Amino acid sequence: MLKLLCVTAHPDDEAGAFGGSVLLYHERGVETSVICLTAGTAARNRGTARSDEELAALRTAELAASCKVLNVSCHEVLGYLDSKLVRADSYQVVGDLVRRMRQLRPQVVLTFGPDGGLTGHLDHAMAGMFASLAFEWAGRPERYPEQIEQGLQPHRAQKLYYLAADYLLPDHPVIAPPTVTARIEIGPERFETKVKAFQQHKTQAPLFERVRKNLGRQGGAVEMYHLAATREPRDAKFETDLFEAVTEE
Ligand SMILES: [Zn+2]
Repeated sequence: MLKLLCVTAHPDDEAGAFGGSVLLYHERGVETSVICLTAGTAARNRGTARSDEELAALRTAELAASCKVLNVSCHEVLGYLDSKLVRADSYQVVGDLVRRMRQLRPQVVLTFGPDGGLTGHLDHAMAGMFASLAFEWAGRPERYPEQIEQGLQPHRAQKLYYLAADYLLPDHPVIAPPTVTARIEIGPERFETKVKAFQQHKTQAPLFERVRKNLGRQGGAVEMYHLAATREPRDAKFETDLFEAVTEE
């Protein structure tokens, strides 16, 4: 079975950043998963939450609702501290991701690049770096050998993509974005479903207008990615399909 894993930093990234591709590949019979590193408790917009614990519960439920709209088969919040990923124990975070990759066994992994995605968010950058190391290490039995001793098998995913864009957002930190090597046509209908998934994050309602505008360039109908690593060495090549040359195994 073909499988896609999305590694994100906050509830709502799965919709705002990757939602169209997640929808598209589910339609093509790919099983999709989302691993979100934080519960998003550093958010300025807090809905009815009176504490971080309440906000974590609200945002975790919103992620579940969004994943339902996106037809995501499996999602998980790992509960690292929001806005503090740069200070997290990298051996532990990467190990958690390696374990999920060995369990879920995706062929394709989507995450953010070191620029932190369009918004330049530090947590996005860190999520992408942790996911990149996990992509490299999940296939090596000498990395996190205790997981292998516990019965997990090493897993080498085939392609790692970073979110990319051919434009910058005004009023955001300056970033140097990864080169666009893939354009995925998600079309206007999936774009509307992606917006609907984002709107399941009701605590973030004050952001809806702005996010829709940010998503809406080129009609929002295209998601762009950078092919950052492949299992089989290859030359650079422009793509319109994230599963191009991927084999089922
Ligand atoms: Zn985010």
